[in-house]
Amino acid sequence: MNILVFAFIPLILSLGIIPALQSEFIPSVDAIKAKGNSMTEINSNKVCGDRLCSEISDNKITSPHVVTKSQKALFPSSMDYTVTGPEIDPDKGYAVIEIGDGLYWLTDGMYQVMFLATGQGVILVDAPMGMGTKIQQAISEVTSEKVTHFIYSHIHKDHVGSASLLPKDTVYISHSDTAEHLIMKNDPQRPVPTVTFDDNYTLNVGDQRLELSYIGDFHSKGDIVVNSPAHKVIMAVDFFHPKAAPFQYFGITRDMGEHIAAHDKLLSMDWDIIVSGHEPILGTPEHLKFNKEFTLSVLDNAYTAMKTTKPSANYFGDLANKCAELTVEQYPDLKDIEVSPVENCVTMVFYAMID
Ligand SMILES: [Zn+2]
Repeated sequence: MNILVFAFIPLILSLGIIPALQSEFIPSVDAIKAKGNSMTEINSNKVCGDRLCSEISDNKITSPHVVTKSQKALFPSSMDYTVTGPEIDPDKGYAVIEIGDGLYWLTDGMYQVMFLATGQGVILVDAPMGMGTKIQQAISEVTSEKVTHFIYSHIHKDHVGSASLLPKDTVYISHSDTAEHLIMKNDPQRPVPTVTFDDNYTLNVGDQRLELSYIGDFHSKGDIVVNSPAHKVIMAVDFFHPKAAPFQYFGITRDMGEHIAAHDKLLSMDWDIIVSGHEPILGTPEHLKFNKEFTLSVLDNAYTAMKTTKPSANYFGDLANKCAELTVEQYPDLKDIEVSPVENCVTMVFYAMID
């Protein structure tokens, strides 16, 4: 990102557009529209191995009846895992928690996985590379059911690099952009998805239902939201860190406009808990609202830096440093605020000025 940003400096300086950009109005978040998805569906009714595909019956993927389970109280334990993370058994290296009726959260303290026991097999969302065989070990602690369906939250290997360790007849599901990327990568650790979708997909297995949706690439490529309406739990990975500052470059987001817009899209959905993919805790709508406020504050700080910083040979660097200084002053107690404020401001300044 640094290389990309600084590569633009001579161009911007030579075009003399800095003063114009400094005074240009930055569109409000509400005005940022989702670009939508342009990809076409790939083999939506086929099961594919790394090379070959075969037709599957719809019944295997979608049962004809949707049975919504009555919602039980979240967290059988008295501990509220949206405040404090579970204790990680040092021998096992993970904790597996039942969020609600048949819906489980698995974490090693750094990465997060969600799985759903359906009565007819387990639906698993993500399989981080570092968790390997511990994932199926954890699942076997709470159910005798095997994994029958795997959902890719997005393309990144650190979250899905153990997907190949699942039973051979597992049905792999993803957004069509994820499938296209994984076909291109031909990575044995990330089997090519066998069922894909562009906008929405409902997965009914046994007596459970998950609704998958695409709301734009808020982080990388093929980012999807996995929603269990019966539990009021969603999973959106690498979008934000509950109660913490963003990972550098706003989670290395590819499109800051989509990233910002995704806050309101997620907040418009009906849920109580979000599995974010990272942090020791689960997230809440309040965490996401705070993250939106933080993100827009950084945008304001980038704007302020553009108004108050004089052009120089290190103009972008000066802008990012000023933006970071303002941000750290505003949020001195936020977890990880000091880790990468400049990197986050580089992304925001770049977005504010020329995206
Ligand atoms: Zn990622």
